[in-house]
Order: sequence, then structure tokens, then C-alpha cells
Amino acid sequence: MAKDTKYIFVTGGVLSSLGKGLASAAIGALLESRGLTVTIQKLDPYINVDPGTMNPFQHGEVFVTDDGTETDLDLGHYERFTHAKMGKNNNFTTGKIYHSVITKERKGDYLGGTVQVIPHITDEIKNSVKLAANDVDVLIVEIGGTIGDIESLPFLEAIRQFRADVGKENSLYIHLTLVPYISTAGEVKTKPTQHSVKELRSIGIQPDILLCRTDRFLSKDIKAKISLFCNVSVDAVITAKDVDHIYEVPLIFHQEGLDDQIIELLNIWTRNPQLDNWEELIKKIKAPKHSVTIAVVGKYVDLTESYKSLNEALCHGGISNDCKVNLNFIDSEKLDSGTCIQMLADAEGILVPGGFGQRGIEGKICAANFARVNKVPYFGICLGMQIAVIEFARHVAGLENANSSEFDANTPYPVIYLMREWFDERSQTVQRRDDLSDKGATMRLGAYSCHIENNSFASQAYQKEDISERHRHRYEFNNEFMDQLKEKGMIVSGASPNGELVEIIEIGDHPWFLGCQFHPEFKSRPMEPHPLFRDFIGASLRNSQSRNQQ
Ligand code: GLN
Repeated sequence: MAKDTKYIFVTGGVLSSLGKGLASAAIGALLESRGLTVTIQKLDPYINVDPGTMNPFQHGEVFVTDDGTETDLDLGHYERFTHAKMGKNNNFTTGKIYHSVITKERKGDYLGGTVQVIPHITDEIKNSVKLAANDVDVLIVEIGGTIGDIESLPFLEAIRQFRADVGKENSLYIHLTLVPYISTAGEVKTKPTQHSVKELRSIGIQPDILLCRTDRFLSKDIKAKISLFCNVSVDAVITAKDVDHIYEVPLIFHQEGLDDQIIELLNIWTRNPQLDNWEELIKKIKAPKHSVTIAVVGKYVDLTESYKSLNEALCHGGISNDCKVNLNFIDSEKLDSGTCIQMLADAEGILVPGGFGQRGIEGKICAANFARVNKVPYFGICLGMQIAVIEFARHVAGLENANSSEFDANTPYPVIYLMREWFDERSQTVQRRDDLSDKGATMRLGAYSCHIENNSFASQAYQKEDISERHRHRYEFNNEFMDQLKEKGMIVSGASPNGELVEIIEIGDHPWFLGCQFHPEFKSRPMEPHPLFRDFIGASLRNSQSRNQQ
């Protein structure tokens, strides 16, 4: 921890889904635009030690960091909005905190004392906060959940104590609330905000700044009313107005004077904010010259939260092609060789994202087949790459019933399988797995290097030979089938530096067909769109233009 790090704690009131994660990320962006270094941490009140095993239906995407931590999807926003690199210290859950305290207690570290929420759990939380602060000017800490929840109380108590520890000039409480417009009354209502702040004050936290989520700019009078009832200065009542696009949030906050308030209250001297790049970005997003329709063939099609980073990366790919990307989520269970033609007819590019479990697998194979045969640009990510390999093995190499051993343990041709032994670059150890291996422990997680072959879609995109990308999967390409598949035209354009693990496959004689074992979406940013997404959208756009000419 740098000695003079300042802390901003972001809490949320009234109801969930007000955009606390985005607000925290946007605050980070604003402070960076003033030349400060920042990082962001999320404290999650749930008991799971990490979100790795949580169902995407319930919790949305699991975001993966370079160091292989499976985290809350808000960390994806933090990386997309700022230059902060997320890692294991950027996400703590109640489970992780208790796990650590209980482990210490079992080891006898508390010397026989009674272990209690205050001070042992709260001390553990405060230490975890400090762990994330390494050498940045400002650490922004987002507290998950809503004020009033029982389970977030230890976190709130810990951040309350924090101010006593580091002083008022080094800590700031920002509270996000809702100011709804009630159409029957014809006005916005401040009562939910008043109640939420009252609740926060009852546990000893007086917010310094209020972010009021609303669909319109708040008038001076309303701000004055909120200021009076909530004991917050009127300049610190900020309209967090709904926006068309998430990347507008930093600009709206700036317009409302949020960054001025923050640096004043924290007594920081900075340069004026430079937000030209954000303004430029919004201009591009709002008036694209072209548009393209991409079919995303997956399982969680009703809950696009589970593909958060993917959706963002596709949007970034659009920005770099001056193009709006329309996403058409297709439930792979509804796809078969009959329905494919109709359901994918409008798709100018087809993407099969990551996934686990057998449901909808055959539909995804149909989609890959449709893309390959009809020369529609195809992008397979993780499971999507494995699907492309299975499709190619079955229909080009003639390996009937080829499959991944994840979906068919008895397939005669396990072209994707659980590798028994492999050298793990990150831990520098030989890893061994078998069918009984513990679920979480057997995943290949986090950043791994990949060497790229020349004259490939991959080399065209990356324009370099050595890259690093993030992984989250158990199964791998089976090298036993490598020669056979290559002979039939499959190209292995990326592999681990020792050649053991296949990372990228392609199909030649196609406008763009690429599958990667890693998740490139985790590293795409609005200002630096990921090269694979850029080129996939580029190829889809060319496809769209040539269709229009016909
Ligand atoms: N289910 C596959 C595996 O475990 C793919 C995982 C993924 O797409 N993230 O290897």
C-alpha cells in the first residue's frame, strides 16, 4: 500500500441494478483523465468464496483476470474503463474473508481469543482493502448489495472504521440512489433517497456525495431538497442520468461536476481532465456509418448479462469498423440442420461463445457447419473453437461421431478431451488431471502465452508473433488427431510456446473462420478494440456489403 493512497467507497441504496459497478468504473475513468493512477476493488457480500461456480443465469458472466482469478463481472467494467489491471486482490467476497479468518483461527493465530465479527472480520476486510491499494493514487472500493441488506453489514462497518483509521481527507463515501419520476404526480421523488441515506447514517456512515440515478437532470430545487434532507452539500448531489450508452457515463458525471467534488473533498491537486478520447468514442458509437448483424449462438440467450464482456468486445469491434453491431442471440437448442438455414439467414457473421455442459451442443455444431459451408465469417470462442473442431472432424475429415469427451465419454474420436498431463506455463509445473479431478481445480485459468503462425487470420489480426490471452476451460484439442485434421485443411495458427496446447485453429479458403481456445473478449477495451473482434466484424461487414450488392 502506498502511504498516501486515498480511498473512495461506493455504496448503493434503494434497489439493485442501479449501475454501481459502472459508476465506480466511470469514477475511475474520470480520475485517470486527470492524470491520477487508480484501481478498483469489489467487495461482494455473498458467501461463495469466488463466483467461479455460480450459475451465469443467476450471477451473469464470470470475469477472468490475468492471474487466473474468477471474479464478478463488474471487474470487467473496471478494466474496460480504466488502465487498472485486475487480479486476486480486486475482488473479495464474504466467503473469502471468512475462509481466511477461519483458516487463521484453526492455525491458532488468534491465540485462543474469541473470534468475532468486530474486530476480526472487519480487520480482515480492512486489510483486504489495503491489499488492493498498491501504489495507486486512488483506490475505489465498490460494496456489493444494497444498503439495508443484512449480509453487507460487516463490509459497511469496516468502511465506517476506515475513515477513523485514515482520516477524512483520505476517504470518501459516495452513495448511489434512485430518484424515480412518478408520472401520475408529474414529478421526481426524493423519498427513497432520503430513506436510503437515513439507513446508511444509522450505521454510522454519512455520505459525502450522492449519485442520483434518474431519467432526467435534477433541478436546482430538487438538489437543494436532497441536500437538506441528506446532509450533503448541494454541489455534491450529482445527477446520474440514464444514458443511451454506458461509455457516456464518465462524460455525464463530469458535466455534473463529480470529479471536481471528488478532488476537492479528497484535497488532491490534479490537471484538468482530458476527456477528448471519451467524447470521440461517443461520437463514433452514436453515428456509425455501417451496420452488421451477428448471430450469437449460445445457451444463455435470454440473459445477456452472462455474455457481458463478449457484448462489449463486439461493440468495440464495431467501433473500429465505424459500424453498429446488431446482436441476434440464438438459442442453440432450437438449431438443427433444418432450422439453421432460416434462423441464420440474416447473420452476416456467426459467433459461438464459451460455454459448459452438453445442452445445445448439436445446434452449435450446425451453426459452425452452416458458417463453414456458406462462407459466413465464424468466430468460435473457447467452446466455440472446440465446436468448430468437432464439426470439421465429423464433416470434413470423416470422423463420424467425433466429439469432445465432455459431451460423449465414449466417442470413437475424442478430438477434444481432458489432457492427462501438460506443462503449465503459469505455475511452471506439470499438471495432471483425470476424470475424477476436482471441478474447479482442473481448469486452465488466466493468462497464457501463445505463438502465432504467419500467413493466418490470427497473424493478420495481431500483427505479432507472441501474444498472451486469458483462459477458462478444462478440455483441450487432442493432438492425436492433429495430422489427420491438418491434412484435410484445418490450420493450427496458434499454440502454446512448447507446441503442446493448441490455441487457435482456422479454416483456409474462407473469408474468416477462426476459433480460439482462450477468451479474447476479456481484454478488449473501447479505446483499444481487440484485434480478433475488429477483424471478425470487419469480415462480417464485407460479407454484408457484398450481400447488399447482389
Ligand atoms: N466446456 C469447455 C471446457 O471446459 C469450454 C469452456 C469454455 O468455453 N469456457 O473446456
